[in-house]
Amino acid sequence: SKGGEFPKTRMMIRSRSRSRRKKGCSSKAKLHEDRKYLPIYKYRADLLKAIEKFQVLIIVGETGSGKTTQIPQYLHEAGYTKRGKVGCTQPRRVAAMSVAARVSQEMGVKLGHEVGYAIRFEDCTSEKTVLKYMTDGMLLRELLAEPDLSSYSVLMVDEAHERTVSTDILFGLLKDIARFRKDINLIISSATLDAEKFSDFFDSAPIFRIPGSRYPVEIHYTKAPEANYLDAAIITVLQIHVKEPPGDILVFLTGQEEIEMAEETLNRRIRSLGSKVAELIICPVYANLPSEIQARIFEPTPQGARKVVLATNIAETSLTIDGIKYVIDPGFCKMKSYVPRTGMESLLVTPISKASANQRAGRSGRTGPGKCFRLYTAYTYHTELDANTPPEIQRTNLASVILSLKSLGIDDLLKFDFMDPPSSEALLKALELLFALGALNKHGELTKVGRQMAEFPLDPMLSKMIVASAKYKCSDEIISIAAMLSVGNSIFYHPKHKQIHADNARKNFHIGNVGDHIALMKVYNSWKETNYSTQWCSENYVQVRSMKRARDIREQLESRLERVGIELTSNSNDLEAIKKAITSGFFPHSARLQKDGSYRTVKSRNTQTAYIHPSSGLAEVRPRWVVYDQLVLTSKEYMRQVTELKPEWLLEIASHYYQKKDVEDLGPKKMPTWFSYK
Ligand code: ADP
Ligand code: MG
Repeated sequence: SKGGEFPKTRMMIRSRSRSRRKKGCSSKAKLHEDRKYLPIYKYRADLLKAIEKFQVLIIVGETGSGKTTQIPQYLHEAGYTKRGKVGCTQPRRVAAMSVAARVSQEMGVKLGHEVGYAIRFEDCTSEKTVLKYMTDGMLLRELLAEPDLSSYSVLMVDEAHERTVSTDILFGLLKDIARFRKDINLIISSATLDAEKFSDFFDSAPIFRIPGSRYPVEIHYTKAPEANYLDAAIITVLQIHVKEPPGDILVFLTGQEEIEMAEETLNRRIRSLGSKVAELIICPVYANLPSEIQARIFEPTPQGARKVVLATNIAETSLTIDGIKYVIDPGFCKMKSYVPRTGMESLLVTPISKASANQRAGRSGRTGPGKCFRLYTAYTYHTELDANTPPEIQRTNLASVILSLKSLGIDDLLKFDFMDPPSSEALLKALELLFALGALNKHGELTKVGRQMAEFPLDPMLSKMIVASAKYKCSDEIISIAAMLSVGNSIFYHPKHKQIHADNARKNFHIGNVGDHIALMKVYNSWKETNYSTQWCSENYVQVRSMKRARDIREQLESRLERVGIELTSNSNDLEAIKKAITSGFFPHSARLQKDGSYRTVKSRNTQTAYIHPSSGLAEVRPRWVVYDQLVLTSKEYMRQVTELKPEWLLEIASHYYQKKDVEDLGPKKMPTWFSYK
């Protein structure tokens, strides 16, 4: 709505003038001075001594004490970077980017020069770079090219408590590297206190604790469970804003959509309160937030105003925002879960753990006493929340990680040094998938196809689709599709007041019921034909930012193609060839229409009911046979990004995976219910 834009624009103007003002006084000298007030500063000398003495050191300190921004700088100042880079991993992209930006400011250098960052599909480093922040996934990929990490003198695995799959795998690999590279230092840093576990894993490495200054935090619970936590959160924000003394508010929500919804509602309610209440500056924080807006969350709140940060659990430990005095914790986060039996991976809104709840509360007591409003009951906290979140390695599909390990020459996964091993069922399932895709042979060894696949920083099915496109002479189209799929579901936008126009624009790309993959290709190609025009994007309700990202990703995929020796060939009129290439990667994701309009996945052993997502171009067409990109669970099991296929292709492309009887078009009624293929 038009009204909704007004305060936002005003905020942008304000923040711009403020940042101009800030530049004047917060010169490099001021930032340099600020560094001395961080809790870690007092321990600088001791810390450097400990690092010198011990090859592996575990560092534990409250969030905000300065671990991420300061330790790499201390190492640089102490001369470690003369021997090689200092690398620091982060589980989240936003954190890697934002911290690198901060450190480059503190050092007074341009981002990408001495201080840089690397995240998937984006490398902001140069030959000059000595402090490199990166996602843990990126360091894993670097290991493929540089197995001993010889260009590094120190590696800091930061936010170790997050226990992402990549971090867990890095633990095992780095431990091994440290054994034969006595000149490398490892630092494992973490916010919470499970330090003993890290120490045990790294052969009793010593633990360095940075005492934090944490002020008391008053915890408030709701008397009864909240029916709608989003509503409750918004009401709580307004109550704090109207009644409580100055201090900023941090609200933990589960994702972008929820945050945008909260932002809209808050804007509306604040407007309706009129001029009697102080200004409320709303700052969203989530993974795909453009970096200009990200920078805003760190700007100091002007006198008389209050800031409310609406964040995903990225603000739990990865990012520290100064000035937070009130925390609102609805008690949920989005969590990945995986059922090896069905191969179903889903991202579900799940209750957080006690450890998370305590971290969240702690965010309010960093610079003074704080208050935390838990939108759940004390009973729930004490009896229903788990103590800790299980590590991601135990709730994710492992195919991608195993492909990386296999390319590193780690063949016996059962012997890999896992801090917490994944279930053998999940391991087996991943091996099966890689075998089906042709990445591994019968003996579990990496094949040529597997080696090619590992070059692409993508899910194995996507990589396989690309490798297979060589055969169908359509690598040009397929990398566009892969790039568009990698951008996520943010290609089209649907402004509320123009839904019909937006829908029509979208339908244009689906003419002929070509399927979602080819529609994405058409979007990309049409944009390219207009010479990447921004106007074309707005006319077609396509997000220009997402398209630019797709273009960047595509460029990288193109250079990878060259590296694995696949020619860039275009075959855009042969849609069947393109669909066969897609099927070559996604055949394990095939589904067949049922009489009631639902679909069942084809492999009978892990059969599953699902529906075509309403946003799909094929939602109303309902072809008999489809392949899909992902299954997502929202109100139902939905297949997203769907393409029609002919069942005989499954036999042609994956005869080792499907048998004739799997794809015979008998219809469900002739199938005896007791029958199952083993
Ligand atoms: P830790 O890693 O121990 O949690 P950090 O090194 O991330 O601590 O943070 C130290 C300080 O630097 C905090 O006060 C935080 O507010 C500030 N800081 C970190 N990143 C940024 C940023 N991008 N912009 C402004 N300040 C930042
Ligand atoms: Mg940190």
